[in-house]
Amino acid sequence: MLTLIPLPAFDDNYIWLWHDARHAIAVDPGDPVPLVTYLDAHGLTLDAVLVTHHHRDHTGGNRSLRDRYDCAVYAPDNPRIPATTHPVRHGDAIGFEHLGVRFDVLATPGHTLDHVSYVGHGHLFCGDTLFGCGCGRLFEGDAAMMAASLDLFLALPDDTRVCCAHEYTLSNLAFALTLDGGNAALVAREQRDRAARAEGHPTLPSTLALEKATNPFLRFHDDDMRHFAAQTLHRDNPMPHEVFAAVRAAKDAWDATQP
Ligand code: ZN
Ligand code: FE
Repeated sequence: MLTLIPLPAFDDNYIWLWHDARHAIAVDPGDPVPLVTYLDAHGLTLDAVLVTHHHRDHTGGNRSLRDRYDCAVYAPDNPRIPATTHPVRHGDAIGFEHLGVRFDVLATPGHTLDHVSYVGHGHLFCGDTLFGCGCGRLFEGDAAMMAASLDLFLALPDDTRVCCAHEYTLSNLAFALTLDGGNAALVAREQRDRAARAEGHPTLPSTLALEKATNPFLRFHDDDMRHFAAQTLHRDNPMPHEVFAAVRAAKDAWDATQP
């Protein structure tokens, strides 16, 4: 029996932890403290760390976790990521014998150039590429790159569970409603997720089906978002990556108005 837990870290990060009551793997342990506390409390040993990209809030635990557990550290091949033992790239498959799980590595640049995502066992660990009803900011890549990365997610099965690295869902939903308030699935999701947060529950994992229906950053092939982009660009038939860029620009402008 495998258990999957989002361990809260910092203000709004999640460290995703898989375990079978003995062995564990953790995704993006930016802060080792909550992870070590949990592992110790439950008598677990850490077999491996999976890293999505070089930002500190995803890699800050690598060194001390490797020292403490002698665990493998899978990460994109980037010298800015500490303590990597297994550099990964698009197309790699990585297996964990004890847990009986296997992940495929997808290159998903856009938020950063080195960003990878891990998909397996019906779950997608997408770091800061896709968020609940949102997506990562384009710090290093461009809109075409990010749209191509998100197209890889659109090709995954609808029931894939989406495990993002941050709890940004409510803020993302507030923005999405400004764009897409007539979307019944979005309105229902906002009510559900607001209730979950009010009770202290995570809004994640979501499903790819829900993201496809409600996340404006995954809807750049859809008529609603194409129409929105055509209006803001003052031109018909924008390309998919231009639709994505228009939505991303609108979100960046909206973020700047938030307290
Ligand atoms: Zn990041
Ligand atoms: Fe992050």
